This record gives sequence, C-alpha cells and structure tokens, in this order.
Amino acid sequence: MQEAAKKKKKLSLTAQIAISLVLGILAGVAMQSIPDIATGYVKPFGTIYLNLIKMIVVPVVVLSITQGIVSLQDVRKVGSIGVKTICFYLITTAVAVTLGLVAANLLQVGAGYTLGGEALTYEVPEPTNLMDTLVNIFPSNAFQPLADATMLQVIVIALFLGFGIISVGEKGKVAKDVVDSFAEVSFKIMAMILKVSPIGVFALICPVVAENGPSVLLPLLKVILVAYVAYLAHMALTYSLAVRGFAGMNPLRFFRAMGEPILFAFSSASSVGTLPFNMDATAKLGTRKEVSSFVLPLGATINMDGTAIYQGVCAIFIAQIFGIELTLAQQLTIILTATLASIGTAGVPGSGMIMLTMVLQTVGLPVEGIALVAGIDRVLDMGRTAVNITGDAACTVCVDAWEKKRERRKLAKAAQQ
Ligand code: ASP
Repeated sequence: MQEAAKKKKKLSLTAQIAISLVLGILAGVAMQSIPDIATGYVKPFGTIYLNLIKMIVVPVVVLSITQGIVSLQDVRKVGSIGVKTICFYLITTAVAVTLGLVAANLLQVGAGYTLGGEALTYEVPEPTNLMDTLVNIFPSNAFQPLADATMLQVIVIALFLGFGIISVGEKGKVAKDVVDSFAEVSFKIMAMILKVSPIGVFALICPVVAENGPSVLLPLLKVILVAYVAYLAHMALTYSLAVRGFAGMNPLRFFRAMGEPILFAFSSASSVGTLPFNMDATAKLGTRKEVSSFVLPLGATINMDGTAIYQGVCAIFIAQIFGIELTLAQQLTIILTATLASIGTAGVPGSGMIMLTMVLQTVGLPVEGIALVAGIDRVLDMGRTAVNITGDAACTVCVDAWEKKRERRKLAKAAQQ
C-alpha cells in the first residue's frame, strides 16, 4: 500500500516536470516581446535551481564513487567493470559520430546555405590540446578540484580514496563508515533538491525560448533537424540493440524508465546535473548500485555520444557552407577526434561547442564556422545532452548484466569443483 503511494508520488513528479516543460516553452513564446522580463525575473529561479544541483553534485560524485569502490572490496572487480565501461563508452561514441557523419552527408546538411555578408562576431574559444586533456585528468591538489568541480579530477580523487580505504583493511573501517554516513546525508539533500524540479525546469526553459524565439532558428533549422535525426537514430538503434543484445532487456522498458532523466537532461543541458535522475532510473531498471555508482558519474564526465554526433554534423555543415569537400580520411579523422573530444567535454551546458574547435582544427576546417552554429547551440545542446545521459544508462544496464553473468559463471565453476 505504502509502496503504491510512493510509486504514485514518483510518477507525479515526472508528470509535473513534463507539464512544466511545456508550460515553460509556452510562456517563453508568450514573453518573446519582453525577453528582459524573462531573463530578469524567471531565469534567476532556474539559476538558483541549477546552483543547488551543482552544489550537491561534487559531494554525491565523490562519496558515491568512493562508496561504490569500497563496497566492491575486490579490487579486480572494479578493474573488470572499469575496462568494460570504458570499452562500451568508446565504441558507442565512435558509432555515434559515424552516424552523425552519415546523416549529415546523406541529408546534405549545409547544402543551399551560403555564407551571407553577416559579420562573424563569435569569439573563438581557446582550443583544448589532446595532451593537455590527458595531463589535466590528474590533480596536483586533493581539494582544489572539489572546490572547482573539475569532474575528471574529482573522479580520480574518489578512485584513489576508494582504493586507499580498501587497501588498508581493518584500519580503513572508520573512513569507510564516515564515507557511508556522509553518502546517505548527501543523497537525502539531493532528494530534497529534486523535489523542486518542476519549478526549476520551467524557469530554465522559459527565458531560452523568450530570448531566442522560434524564428531565429529558421535558417539553421536543417542543422537542428539533421542533428535530431541522428540523435534519435542513435538512441533507437544503438541503445536499443545494446540493451536488448547485451542485457536481454526490452528497449521499451528501458526508455520508459528513462523518461525522467531524458526530460531533465533536455531542459537543463547538463549531464552532470542529470546524474541524480539517472541513478534513480537505472536503480528502477534493476541495476546494482555498486555498478551504477561507478559507471554513471564516469559517463557523465567522459561519455558524450550526443556531443560526438553534434560535432560530426556541425563539421559537415561548416565544410559544406564554406564549399570544402571532405575526404574519407578527413572524415575518419573526425571520428577519432570527436570520440576523444567527447572525453574532454565537461557535462555542463555548452562545453561541446568549445570542443568542436578541436575537431574543426584537426581537419583544417575554418573555426569561424562556429559563429554560425553558436546561436542555436542551446537547442542542439538539449538534444545531445539527452543522448549523452541515455548512453550512460545503457552502459550501466549492459555492464550490470555482464557482471551478473560473470558472477553466475564463477559460482557455477565453484559448484563444479
Ligand atoms: N551539455 C552537454 C552535457 O552536459 C555537453 C555538451 O555541451 O555537449 O552533456
């Protein structure tokens, strides 16, 4: 009885978020003539909501990864989950960018769109070098990354903390208990913040629509269309096949459970912010916390399939409007760089566009082309973030199934002996 009541309440939060998303869009359309009011008075509530989420994300990531590793105890087990997760992430990202390139080439994303005399006023962001990305994963200070929310470094710290606690054995018990206790507290705070999601989602979406309005999107509608075709194709094909093939799960069940995180990712454009929703959804899908607490935060940081698709589509779009023919070798280079760029993309709004410079530069495309897509970045960002977090959840489901299989095999072997 209590369970049913709880379930009903959960469902109603999803419904509330969906309704406030629609209302936010409608309000944004209505406020197009007064965007200042929307940015001045509605946006701050969205900012408060995002601030609260950002506030709780670092403690949740550190504590849940550490707790996850400590609960595994068996160091080799983390190793096996880690290798599977990283392979899954890299392969699906390469598939994603390939799909993006195929869709952009087939649908001729930039055809018929010539560069007008518009001034390209967009300021090019600092490109990120690959080796720098690698070096920057390792923190030189144990606390600074927590304060700055540098997620890859935060994950490295949590990994060391977890392994450290396991390695010292009995002496690590106090540390383990402290981590467990604070993890519970941080999850509770997270739940409190999630309760105000409907207000947050409304306040986030309304000013975006009010400021940009549907009309500014018209010239670039084709980029949006092609990107969304590829986003949807990747979700419907790659993830459906993965959860069906590797975990024997009905894709419909998977997507039904993913409704809440997808909606939230779409409206917030932040993978990291969506983490709590994703943890909840994967738990509902029956995956174990020891797997999800490792796979999901890592995915929110390094696995960006939607971002890779977007980079592929934008690269072709920019090449076509500048009249540049890309060779097959160049397109293969895009696959490689976009896969690596997605690792360095932070799970926060807009970071994929910064990494796009790296992809463009690698194949010698004009970085100024970013000026054209910058205006619609948010619209593209919403879709790519939804894909990003769905990829993380699909990986969690598959890795969990592989681990369960591995354990069953181990048990059967032990029984035979
Ligand atoms: N906003 C995306 C995310 O949080 C990253 C990106 O800009 O592509 O997943």
